[in-house]
Amino acid sequence: AECPLFSENWDGELRRNEPLAPLTTLRVGGPAAVAARPSTLAQLASLLALLDWLGCPRRVLGRGSNLLVADEGYAGVAIILGQRLGRITRVPVAPEPAGREAADRVLVRVEAGCSLAALLAWALKRGLGGLEFLAGIPGSIGGAVMMNAGAWGESLGERVHALEVVSGGRVRVINRSALEFSYRLVQGLAADEVVGAAILALVAREPATIQALVRQRHEQRRAAQPRGVASAGSFFKNPPGDYAGRLIEQAGLKGVRVGGAQVSRKHANFLINSQGARAADLLALMKLVQEQVLARFGVRLEPEVHLLGFERE
Ligand SMILES: Cc1cc2nc3c(=O)[nH]c(=O)nc-3n(C[C@H](O)[C@H](O)[C@H](O)COP(=O)(O)OP(=O)(O)OC[C@H]3O[C@@H](n4cnc5c(N)ncnc54)[C@H](O)[C@@H]3O)c2cc1C
Repeated sequence: AECPLFSENWDGELRRNEPLAPLTTLRVGGPAAVAARPSTLAQLASLLALLDWLGCPRRVLGRGSNLLVADEGYAGVAIILGQRLGRITRVPVAPEPAGREAADRVLVRVEAGCSLAALLAWALKRGLGGLEFLAGIPGSIGGAVMMNAGAWGESLGERVHALEVVSGGRVRVINRSALEFSYRLVQGLAADEVVGAAILALVAREPATIQALVRQRHEQRRAAQPRGVASAGSFFKNPPGDYAGRLIEQAGLKGVRVGGAQVSRKHANFLINSQGARAADLLALMKLVQEQVLARFGVRLEPEVHLLGFERE
């Protein structure tokens, strides 16, 4: 059933029939029936309450860098969290008791739509380190929390002090101790809860040191990953004790295509949109890779990329 118009009941920006391909890094897929762009946590909360009441299906999009959208699009409401819900503030901390050295840990509150790049730039300017490993990951903070985004042996979960999550018109704070982060997964949120903001614990660090680390991470990425092509980063999760990219390469699949979708020649775990691919091409390529790797090595590769709009299949 189509979601009824609700623009009279919500004060945020609403659009019908919003193309989603330009909002994802894979650049495929059809439109969302409705797109909603809240700019405050209160607006996000009232939107979620309204959608509950209307019974409308909904899904959050951050930077769309880990998302494959179906060619038919999404029949529900796409809640798009971007820079307008991307404020960054320092969390004031109680002064240390006299005689105690001030801790070099600094708490920072970041709204979910903030891009990782914008957060890194903000932190660099203020001499706050601990997030350098995120350099080159094109996500939002909300998406990076949900995916427990990581690289080079570090992941965002290690920096999370608390989350502000939103559902049914309310905002709730979840403390670190009630959250469990593992490989590309966070547990401790209810299924209907949306990450509205994250409180991160950063450390004081020389800007020059941060800059050097960030540069190094960018260079490592440049050497290992395809550039200037549409992808969602690593498409499959690494199976325990192995690498999806190694298995795909060993199965002889580098460069293999389905329609406009292709297994990258540079990094076999990147499925790229090389020539005007459709979502169906990427899905077919995903299945082909899974079948071949299963046949060759007996390993079932699970996608790391999330799917949107394929429910009708
Ligand atoms: C070139 C490239 C390199 C990459 N390298 C890495 C890497 O090194 N490490 C890594 O971990 N990932 C990597 N990725 C994948 C991706 O960037 C990360 O997973 C990123 O954190 C996703 O954030 P996003 O905002 O784009 O999420 P989206 O793709 O928008 O969403 C991902 C999922 O999270 C949900 N979601 C998003 N925001 C919220 C929210 N606020 N509340 C609740 N649910 C939400 C969505 O519904 C969806 O299911 C890479 C991607 C690309 C394109």
